[in-house]
Amino acid sequence: MIEDSSRQVRVLVVGSGFSGLGAAIRLKEAGEDFVILDKTDDIGGTWAVNTYPGCMCDVPSHLYSFSFALNPHWSRVFSPQPEIWDYLRDCADRFSLRPHIRFGTEVTGAQWDDARQQWQVDTTDGTWTADVLVAGTGALSAPAVPSLPGLDTFEGKVFHSARWDHTHDLTGRRVAVIGTGASAIQFIPEIAPQVKQLTVLQRTPPWVMSRRDREMRPAEQRLYARLPGLQRLLRTAIYWVREVQGIFFLHPRLGRLGSHLSRQHLHRQVADPELRAKLTPNFAFGCKRVLMSNTYYPALARPNVKVETQAIEEVRPEGIATTDGAVHEVDTIIFGTGFHVTDAPIAGLVRGRDGRSLAEHWAGSPQAYLGTAVAGFPNLFLPLGPNTGLGHTSVVLMIESQIGYLMAALAHLRRTGAKTIEPRPEAQATFVRAVDRKMRGTTWVAGGCSSWYLDSTGRNSTLWPGYTFGFRRLLARFDPAAHAISGVAPDPVAGASTVTAPVAAAGTEREEPQSC
Ligand code: NAP
Repeated sequence: MIEDSSRQVRVLVVGSGFSGLGAAIRLKEAGEDFVILDKTDDIGGTWAVNTYPGCMCDVPSHLYSFSFALNPHWSRVFSPQPEIWDYLRDCADRFSLRPHIRFGTEVTGAQWDDARQQWQVDTTDGTWTADVLVAGTGALSAPAVPSLPGLDTFEGKVFHSARWDHTHDLTGRRVAVIGTGASAIQFIPEIAPQVKQLTVLQRTPPWVMSRRDREMRPAEQRLYARLPGLQRLLRTAIYWVREVQGIFFLHPRLGRLGSHLSRQHLHRQVADPELRAKLTPNFAFGCKRVLMSNTYYPALARPNVKVETQAIEEVRPEGIATTDGAVHEVDTIIFGTGFHVTDAPIAGLVRGRDGRSLAEHWAGSPQAYLGTAVAGFPNLFLPLGPNTGLGHTSVVLMIESQIGYLMAALAHLRRTGAKTIEPRPEAQATFVRAVDRKMRGTTWVAGGCSSWYLDSTGRNSTLWPGYTFGFRRLLARFDPAAHAISGVAPDPVAGASTVTAPVAAAGTEREEPQSC
């Protein structure tokens, strides 16, 4: 149990979503001293704050869950947000994590103190010191709202999908939705029957596939509860089906099959050729995230829904003006415009040995060794860091691999008696070069679209350019030679103390990743 006066801890974990909870569970098992900070007042991260109607995951729940905490009770193949949120809260209870969590505590800055070899972490509830910092803040946590001219003059209600205002009843209203990404295509079908008029302002049409969802039968749930091995077998089958689908993204020519299936889906669901034309993407399948819905196209075909493809010129008190001179009069604007991903705020808050922030080091293009640790930032770990996102399967797989690496690094510190560990700059550069090489030719960079996967330099610093088993294999082999450690205890034989202990000469690192 944490004492109120205690502000010093071995490992400080930021965030209580999949990353933070996953790390905490392993830290607890290992008997580490840790605290979790969360800026909100509940567990769940993105699954606590995204409460928009229709919110769900597009990875089957048997796979979108911790491998060590299967849930036999999922109600559907693709579970809705409240159930995923419940699952995370249940994990916190099952692993007795609640006493470790400080809610309502937002990190406002984190600075590495090289003299003390500790992180000094400023929060809205005082300052913490920690030997190790795990920033489980997620890739999709800071909503992006475009700065449209005149937005502040709008006389109606405005909110972002990740900050849904449930007190604002949409019944009978004239609503504009800006954006047609993964969030918007989930809430549009939910609100379309409720509102009087819906104008969907689409900049780029996404590729949409059918969603093979269904309710789980009670008999199935009972079976999984009784025979966890069976559920594990199913999870493994889903895992491999998903991995095979990764091939469509890595080899764009094969993606043509995907675009063919998606076009068929569109043709089946939308009869109007003019609307079909508006909804047909002009970039390669998978270049942007492929979406899944059986209800999105039918919602757009409703008589009270209009798809507007003209660019937005400005917002006026009464609505939205588009570049063709039309004014769409609305009383509510909902932004489904996504998140700050490659410019996430946490990068501006965390400062390394030289006092410069991650954002300053990265200069618009995030990079990390194994997507998880950064040279110059000792004892810092970034679950879902640069180049660890996925376009085809569950990110929980990546998080678990990264937590495995964190635990291996902590074990290495314990074994060697060292105080700090960080990747060597050469190892990081080698890894990033290999990632960039693997990225070449994938649909994400060669597919003819601009997406949130790309950073301000045009580099894809968001996705892992390979299969998850390749990533797992890479992180499972902890390589001391790729790291610099410091603060090693005196060597009793030589009688000298090593301040910085280079375990291997620079330049001996493996050319990674060999197994993407
Ligand atoms: P998103 O995929 O980034 O989509 C943002 C949408 O807003 C795009 O259609 C974008 O158009 C549009 N947009 C952005 N700025 C605009 C502007 N100034 N004017 C007009 N349109 C603008 O965001 P999201 O839908 O919130 O999804 C983000 C990610 O969250 C997803 O890719 C996924 O990884 C995750 N997510 C997953 C699920 C799920 O599992 N089912 C659900 C929700 C979210 P352009 O395409 O032209 O840029």
